[in-house]
Amino acid sequence: MSTTLEAPSASSATEQFLKQQHKLLINGDWVEAASGKRFDVINPASEDVIATVAEGDSEDVQRAVAAARKAFDTGPWSRTTPSERGKLLWKLGDLLEQHMEEFAEIEALDNGKPKAAALGGDVTLAIDMFRYMAGWATKIEGNTMSLSVPYMPGEEFHSYTLQEPVGVVGQIIPWNFPLLMAAWKLAPALAAGCTIVLKVAEETPMSAIRLGQLIQEVGFPPGVVNIITGYGETAGAALSAHPDVDKIAFTGSTEVGKLIVKAAGETNLKKITLELGGKSPNIILPDADIEQAIPGAANAIFFNHGQCCCAGSRLFVHKKQFDRVVEGISEAASQIRVGPGMHPDTDMGPMVSQIQHNRVCGYLESGLEEGARAVVGGKKTGDRGYFIEPTVLVDTQKDMKVIREEIFGPVVAAVPFDDLDELVDSANDTQYGLAAAVWTRDISLGHKIARRLKAGTVWVNCYNVFDSSLPFGGYKQSGWGREMGYEAIRNYTQTKAVTVHL
Ligand code: NAP
Ligand code: MG
Repeated sequence: MSTTLEAPSASSATEQFLKQQHKLLINGDWVEAASGKRFDVINPASEDVIATVAEGDSEDVQRAVAAARKAFDTGPWSRTTPSERGKLLWKLGDLLEQHMEEFAEIEALDNGKPKAAALGGDVTLAIDMFRYMAGWATKIEGNTMSLSVPYMPGEEFHSYTLQEPVGVVGQIIPWNFPLLMAAWKLAPALAAGCTIVLKVAEETPMSAIRLGQLIQEVGFPPGVVNIITGYGETAGAALSAHPDVDKIAFTGSTEVGKLIVKAAGETNLKKITLELGGKSPNIILPDADIEQAIPGAANAIFFNHGQCCCAGSRLFVHKKQFDRVVEGISEAASQIRVGPGMHPDTDMGPMVSQIQHNRVCGYLESGLEEGARAVVGGKKTGDRGYFIEPTVLVDTQKDMKVIREEIFGPVVAAVPFDDLDELVDSANDTQYGLAAAVWTRDISLGHKIARRLKAGTVWVNCYNVFDSSLPFGGYKQSGWGREMGYEAIRNYTQTKAVTVHL
C-alpha cells in the first residue's frame, strides 16, 4: 500500500473536539498555561497540525500540585467512600465506551496507529481497566496480627494494618499508547483514593484531554485529576522534583527514569514506580508449531509499529528452523500495509514523530554499516509522514547497537541458536528484563525456560497478551513496581500498622 494514500476524514465529533481551544485541567477548570504559551500537535502520517495545546510548565505544575494536595487533604475526595470511588470509575468506563469511535480516531490522528487497532486494543483495554479498578476500590484490605512482644510478658495488644492512599501522585506517561497509559496510571490511583497530576507526552496529548472532559462529566471532585500538557524537561522535571508530590509513576525511557530517581533523591525521597524500556527475547524452540510461531513472532515485533516497551525485538530461532522462520516472518513483513492510521486498509502507521523516525533510521543505518543484512525492509518509506518499512535483520553480532539497544520501531533481529543453555544466557544478556516469550510443544520445557528468563512477563506460545488482572513491569533496568492487577493498587497505597494496648 502506498503511504501517500489519502485517509478518510474523521467524524464530526472528532473534528469538533480537535478544533477546541485546548487547555490544562487544574482544580476542575480548564485554564491556559501561566506563560500563555501553546504548541502544535502533529499528525505523523501527514505532518499536518491537528490541534494546538497549552504548554504547561513549572508554574502550572505548582498550581496543579496545590489543587491535588487540597483535594487529597481536605476536599470532598478525602471523604468519598470506596464504594463511591468505584462507582465513579465504573461510570468513567461507561462514558468512555459511549465515545469509543471518537477516541480511536483521536489516537489514529495523534499517534498514527490504525484506528481499528486503537478501537480493539487501546480503547477497549482502557475501558476494561477503569472497570477492573472500580472493583478493587471496595476491596483494599489490611490484616490483623497476633502479637507476642517477648519483652512485655503478659501484656495484650490488638494490632491491625491499614492500606492508606499514598497521597498526591505525579504520573508521567509516554506516547506509544496515550489513552491506555493514562488509564493504567489513573485507574488504580483513583481506586486507592489518591489525587493526581498527570503529565502527558508532548507528542500525543489529545486523548488525555478528551478523557479529562469525561472525568469532569462523571463528576470527580475538583483537583482529584489534574492534566498538564507540556514538555518533559520543564513540566515533567518540575513534577519529579516537587517536594509536595508523594509519588511519581513513570512510563518511558530508562534514561528519563534515572533522572526521575535523581530528582526524587535530591528533594523529598518521594516513592517511585517505573515502567521502562525493553529488548525482549522471543524464542522459537525446535519443536515449536511453526505455523503458530511465525505469525506470533511477526505480531511480537510489528504490533504498534514496534513502539512497544515489550516488543519481541530479538528473535532467537533454533538453527533447524532458522531459514524457514526468517522466510516466514519476512513474508509477513512484506505483506504489512503501511499507511495513515485513519485509512481502513492500514495495518501499520507511521512512527510517532520526526525524532522517533530519525532514531529508528539511525539504528537501521548503524546495523547495516556494522554488517547486519535486511532480508526485508531496512529504510524509511513514503514522501511525507514518518513511515518505516517493517524490517527483518539477520547476520547480527551480540555487541551491535541493534542487538543491545531498544530501537522502538518495526525492526526485528533474527538470531540462530543451537544449545539451550547458551540460548537462555543470550536471552538474558541485556540490561533490560521486561518481557520474553517461548514457543514450544513441550509445555514442561516451556515452564522451565519461563523460570530461567529474567523478565517480568513471560509468554508461552503467545505474545502481547495483556489483561487488567495481569501485573506488568520489569526486572533489571526495565523498571520498579508493576502496573495492572492488585499489585498496581499496592503501588498507590502504603501500610500503616496500628497497635492498641488492651
Ligand atoms: P521519554 O523521553 O522517556 O518520555 C516519556 C515521558 O517522560 C514523556 O511524558 C516525557 O515528556 C517525559 N519526560 C522527558 N524528560 C523528562 C524529564 N527530564 N523529567 C520528567 N519527565 C520527562 O521517552 P520518549 O522521548 O517519548 O521516547 C524515547 C524512548 O523512551 C523510546 O525510544 C523508548 O525507548 C522509550 N519509551 C518507552 C516506553 C514504554 O512504554 N516503556 C514508551 C515510550 C518510550 P515529553 O512529552 O516532553 O517527551
Ligand atoms: Mg520526549
